[in-house]
Amino acid sequence: MVSSSGQTALLLAIRGLGKTFGRYVALKTIDLDVHEGEFLSFLGPSGCGKSTLLRIITGLERQSAGTIGQGGRDISALSPAQRGFGILFQSYALFPNLTVRQNVAYGLNGSGRAAEARVAELLEMVGLPDIGGKFPSQLSGGQQQRVALARALAPSPKLLLLDEPLSALDAKVRVHLREQIKDLQRRLGITTIMVTHDQEEALAMADRIVVMNHGTVEQVGTPAEIYGHPASLFVASFVGKMNLVPGQVAGGAFRPHGSTATIAEAQGEGAARLCVRPEDIEVSDAGSGTAARVEGVEFLGAFTRLRLAVPGWGGVVLSADVAARQMRDLAIAPGAAVRITLDPTRLQLLPGGGDA
Ligand code: ADP
Ligand code: MG
Repeated sequence: MVSSSGQTALLLAIRGLGKTFGRYVALKTIDLDVHEGEFLSFLGPSGCGKSTLLRIITGLERQSAGTIGQGGRDISALSPAQRGFGILFQSYALFPNLTVRQNVAYGLNGSGRAAEARVAELLEMVGLPDIGGKFPSQLSGGQQQRVALARALAPSPKLLLLDEPLSALDAKVRVHLREQIKDLQRRLGITTIMVTHDQEEALAMADRIVVMNHGTVEQVGTPAEIYGHPASLFVASFVGKMNLVPGQVAGGAFRPHGSTATIAEAQGEGAARLCVRPEDIEVSDAGSGTAARVEGVEFLGAFTRLRLAVPGWGGVVLSADVAARQMRDLAIAPGAAVRITLDPTRLQLLPGGGDA
C-alpha cells in the first residue's frame, strides 16, 4: 500500500530482536521493517532461525531481547489472539472431525447468515467452492492446505504468516499452489510473510526476500537484487547457481589464483571471489575468448549446463548454461575445446577467500 507521500506504510518495526534457548543463540539482533501490502519471504537453510522469528511475530514465542512495533506501539506482550495475525503452517492442522465449512467457520467469530456467506466467499476465494460438506480426510494435500489458508484469512487479518506452507506437497501441486497464493495475496493486498528454505519459491513469490543464516539477516532485497547483487558469499552461493572464482585483487585487477590473467578490473587489495552466474558466461566453439575444456555436459531441457575447466585461470572449473537454441549450433561434447567470455556487466567481486 502506498501512502499519498509515495512512501509505503510501515506495518511492523522489528528492532534489536534476539532469541536464546538456554545458551544457544537462535536469533542475533534482527532489525527489519515490514511494509503494508508487501509479500516478504524469510529464506535460509534449515535451522537458521526463520520459524523462530515468525513464531515471535505471531506471539507464539517470546523474544529474549528487542521489540516488535505495530502502529507506534510495542506489541511484544500481546498474545497471538490479541495480535490477530493469520497463521498457516506446513502441516494442514485442520480439525479432522469437522467439515471444511466448519473448519473455515472456526476462524470466524460470529455465526449465522453472515458467517455462512463469509465461509462461502472464502472457499470461492481459494478455488474450492463445492467442497464445504467434505471432511479433511477426503481432500488432497493441496486442497487441505487451501482450506487451511481460507481459515487463516477468515477474520481478515492485517498480516498473514506462512511457515513452509508448500513443503509437504509434491512438486506439481506446489508450483500450482504458489501461483494461487501469490495471486490471492495480490488481489487482497494482504501483507504476507512466508518462511521457506526453497530459494526458487522465494524468488518466484516474494516482493522482498530476507536471506537469513545462523540467526542473522544476511541481506534484504527484491528477488532481482538478491539474485543480481548478492551482498555476501553466503547469499551468492545459497540463491541460485553461482560460480565463485577464488583469486586476488591487486593493482586495479582481479586475477584468479595461480594465474597472471586479469579477468576483471577491481579496486582495493586482498583475497576475493569473482562471482559469475552460469547464464552470464558466453560459450563459443571458435574465435576470441579464454580457452576452456568441456568436462561435463548436463542436458536440462531448456538449457544445457556445461562444466568447463579453464587452465589459464588456475584450473578453475566453471558451470556455464547454454540455451538449447544455441546448443544446436555448437559442436560440444566432453573433451571439446571451447572459448568463453564473461559478460563484464554481470560480474561481481566479493571480498574473502577460503570456502564459501
Ligand atoms: P528454521 O525454521 O530456520 O529451520 P528454527 O527457527 O526452527 O529454524 O530453529 C533455529 C534454531 O533454534 C535451531 O537450531 C533449533 O534447533 C533451535 N530451536 C528452535 N526452537 C527451539 C526450542 N524450543 N528449544 C531449543 N532450541 C530451539
Ligand atoms: Mg522452520
